[in-house]
Order: sequence, then structure tokens, then C-alpha cells
Amino acid sequence: MSKNTYIEKFFKIDIQQDAILIYVKDIKWLSPYQPQEHLELVATLIKNTGEAGINQAIEATLNNQKHFITCSECNELNLTNHMHNNELCLACAANNHGIIY
Ligand SMILES: [Zn+2]
Repeated sequence: MSKNTYIEKFFKIDIQQDAILIYVKDIKWLSPYQPQEHLELVATLIKNTGEAGINQAIEATLNNQKHFITCSECNELNLTNHMHNNELCLACAANNHGIIY
């Protein structure tokens, strides 16, 4: 996935009157038909922060292992709480290591 795809998939940028709020977006499936969006505020920028500043905040979040980890087997970036552990994503744990969820 390209970086823009990641941003679209994982981030919500909320431009308010006096600030720009950046959230990490996590979808939890309560059932196969019930997605629940969970937002975690990761950065608050001053109102006239330009695109470069916004990108910088996003970049910092993507590089923060508290939020995102790249799977060592498929090299996909994943939300940390969607990882099996610090190295394996859930799909690789299931497909390559027989771990069943
Ligand atoms: Zn993987």
C-alpha cells in the first residue's frame, strides 16, 4: 500500500475552527455487519499548520511503534493492536504459523 492509502485507511484529519486534530482510526467489528469506528487523538496542531506540518505529524505517528508496526513477514504496516506480536501480523500468524483466532 502507498502512504496515501495508509493515511486514508488509518487516519482522520479533523480541521476545526481553531485547531487541526489528527486521529488514528481503528475499526472494530462487533459482528460481520457491525463495524465500530474508534478514534484515538494522536496530535493537535495549530489552526494554520500547512500540509507539510500535517504530513510530519502523520509520519511521526506511522513511525511510532505504539501505534503502528510493520509485519516482518509480509511487510505490511498494521495498527499495533492488530498485530499478533511485535513482528507478526494476524494474517501471517494464521497463514504461516497456524495460529488460530
Ligand atoms: Zn504479515
